[in-house]
Amino acid sequence: MSLIYQISILTCLIFSIILLAGLVYASIIFYQEKENRAAFRALLLALLLPPIYFLSWFYNWEIVALILSADLVLMGILFFISFGKKAQITDDIPKHQIDERDIMFARNELKVNTDRYKEYYSKNPDKLDLDNGFRKEPGLTAEKSIFYNEVAYKAGNSSFFAVEQFKNSVDGPVHHSKSDISSSELSKFLKDWSKKLGALDVGITKLENYHFYSHKGRGEEYGNPIESVHSHAIAFTVEMSQEMVAAAPQSSIVMESAQQYLEAGRIAVQLAQFLRSMGFSARAHIDGNYQLVCPLVARDAGLGEIGRMGLLMTPKEGPRVRLGVVSTDFKLRTDTRIKDNSMLDFCLQCKKCAEVCPSKSISFDDPKLVNGIKRWQINSESCFTYWCKAGTDCGRCMACCPYSHPDNLLHNFIRFGIKKSSLFRMLAVHLDDFFYGRKPKSAELPSWIPNHEKAQK
Ligand code: SF4
Ligand code: SF4
Repeated sequence: MSLIYQISILTCLIFSIILLAGLVYASIIFYQEKENRAAFRALLLALLLPPIYFLSWFYNWEIVALILSADLVLMGILFFISFGKKAQITDDIPKHQIDERDIMFARNELKVNTDRYKEYYSKNPDKLDLDNGFRKEPGLTAEKSIFYNEVAYKAGNSSFFAVEQFKNSVDGPVHHSKSDISSSELSKFLKDWSKKLGALDVGITKLENYHFYSHKGRGEEYGNPIESVHSHAIAFTVEMSQEMVAAAPQSSIVMESAQQYLEAGRIAVQLAQFLRSMGFSARAHIDGNYQLVCPLVARDAGLGEIGRMGLLMTPKEGPRVRLGVVSTDFKLRTDTRIKDNSMLDFCLQCKKCAEVCPSKSISFDDPKLVNGIKRWQINSESCFTYWCKAGTDCGRCMACCPYSHPDNLLHNFIRFGIKKSSLFRMLAVHLDDFFYGRKPKSAELPSWIPNHEKAQK
């Protein structure tokens, strides 16, 4: 037997063992993640695939072993060799600042027939009919909404209440003497401390005009132009629990969103207060109290990319995060952003969020020119109208995104392949569909949340 056949046959034995171990491991991980369909399919593959390689070794099937080994080499090339790099898929720099008054949360706060309401719709008559759509629905965490759950909604509202308490602490007096700490020392400390406080990932960027809203859209300062007084920002992510997100759009999602807004708010307020105590002007940007467009700041701080569903997608938790930002006049040491086109290329092919969106708010198309730049844009009116009907902030797109799978060895192995090779990205879309389904079902509400549908009259 020639050397090449001997190597092929030995390769088949080694690979049958690796494949069996890998698929059994995947099945256990899926089972632990309560993904029963994926666990069953991995187990089925473990019974079907490794024996093909094992039998080639066992019976010395030289030609079959050679073909199977050649397949392995091809798969290795597909997975490990970096190729298929795409040209720029989306543009990064918006041509205009966003006016906070135009975002759905600001429009939702307009009380019918007040001066603000009349002024806004006299300037934006095209938005009146669209907004009357969501005003007809029960509303977020409202009793008649589809996923009403007294306990979960009230728990979520309690977290929103707690975030609200930070309202007067986002800014404050600055200590009269400035610390002489160096930029690199302070930047490193802020990043390390943020992680100690609970942040998942942290980055620093210089602030540009497009990071700032042009005008305030909420609260007492409604309509005031926003002055960009700060030059730098620290942005961070906090993780949303997989268990709570998986049941989206049921009530656990709104509990989890509120909880992580609170976590992000707490960390941001602590960082901003610390910077002011060191003698530097600083402001926390937290839920309901923003001057900055946080996803743009976080993207430029190197934390991820903005994909098809319009949220920041991070490399390890995908969109399953919430963001916090602190701006300051201290010249922090910035991170260098390396645009990750592999994520955007994956978005081009995947389209799972568009498939599962109950309100059809996410486009199946490639990025288009919106206000002069190439990007994806969701239909925020139909998305928000669905939120008001569901009573939750939905999150079905976030729950089904392949990047949202937990940060563990199995999923990071797949993420590695996705980052490296465009051919593997194609395969990975189909693998995700095979294991989880093209339109995965929502998970059950976590068992510790009572399924309490009716409030006492
Ligand atoms: S679900 Fe797919 S298309 Fe949508 S954001 Fe995630 S990776 Fe992109
Ligand atoms: S949150 Fe829900 S309704 Fe909105 S875009 Fe995502 S899936 Fe669609």
